[in-house]
Amino acid sequence: MKSLGYYNGKIGPVEELTVPFTDRGLYFGDGVYDATCAANHIPFALDDHIDRFFNSFQAVRIPFAMSKQELRDLLLDLCARVDDGVYLLYWHTTRGCAARGHAFPPEGTPANLLAYLAPCEMTPLTQTMKLMTAEDLRHHMLHVKTLNLLPNVLTAQQTKENGCDEVVYHRGDRVTEGFHSNILMLKDGALCSPPADNLILPGITRKHLLEIARQLSIPVKEEPFTLAELMEADEVLVTNSSSLCNVATEIDGKPVGGKAPLLLRSLQQAYAQRFNREVGLPIL
Ligand code: PLP
Repeated sequence: MKSLGYYNGKIGPVEELTVPFTDRGLYFGDGVYDATCAANHIPFALDDHIDRFFNSFQAVRIPFAMSKQELRDLLLDLCARVDDGVYLLYWHTTRGCAARGHAFPPEGTPANLLAYLAPCEMTPLTQTMKLMTAEDLRHHMLHVKTLNLLPNVLTAQQTKENGCDEVVYHRGDRVTEGFHSNILMLKDGALCSPPADNLILPGITRKHLLEIARQLSIPVKEEPFTLAELMEADEVLVTNSSSLCNVATEIDGKPVGGKAPLLLRSLQQAYAQRFNREVGLPIL
């Protein structure tokens, strides 16, 4: 299984594609991205990811010129060109190429589009996670999936050095999200998530999990919760596109959750079924 890359119309092995020196993504992280897992050449929840991508570039006024349908066709064409198997499908747009200057480049400068597919392994739903906490020192436009990921990169490294899998970012007492996941909890029979405001990414996995809970008549609460409440949760959930919905068993070395295994299992099973139905890959 090989990776496949795309940059402004050129398609080839990622090792052979290059990005111009003046791409604003390099200097300013002036771009937005999205990503999902593709199996059997089918990206999961592609329309949701494309909708979020459009929200992202519109929020930061990048003049991305393709329609949703054109982008969809292009991404599906790339998915059709790779070998069978599971891939991460990633794409980003930047505010074009121009001499370095903070303000936008001259009107008419076209946005750049980069995409790639790389073989990936999805984390099994049965895998448990260890979390650590960290004050959320990121910006306040976290609903936009920007390329400015330096704080997330630093946290990811610290998490790895501490033998953990994800972080629980918090602003003061209030839980926000992970460096590449949303953090939810089960409490008293309800699925609880921080609200989709500017302090978290509106995760597509989070969205599907909330939908599934409503279908299963599990009450859903989209309200802020505190670290202390998370430590007392019946189950602590970590969601993202490449591992879907895993449970955490530890935060900062202290045991958490483990009090609602049946509810957890019913959500995970329903998620696995939804995923399998769309991409034909049994993941449980
Ligand atoms: N939060 C952050 C900061 C992320 O980077 C991601 C995924 O990359 C998520 C949450 C989960 O989003 P999704 O479920 O769409 O993958």
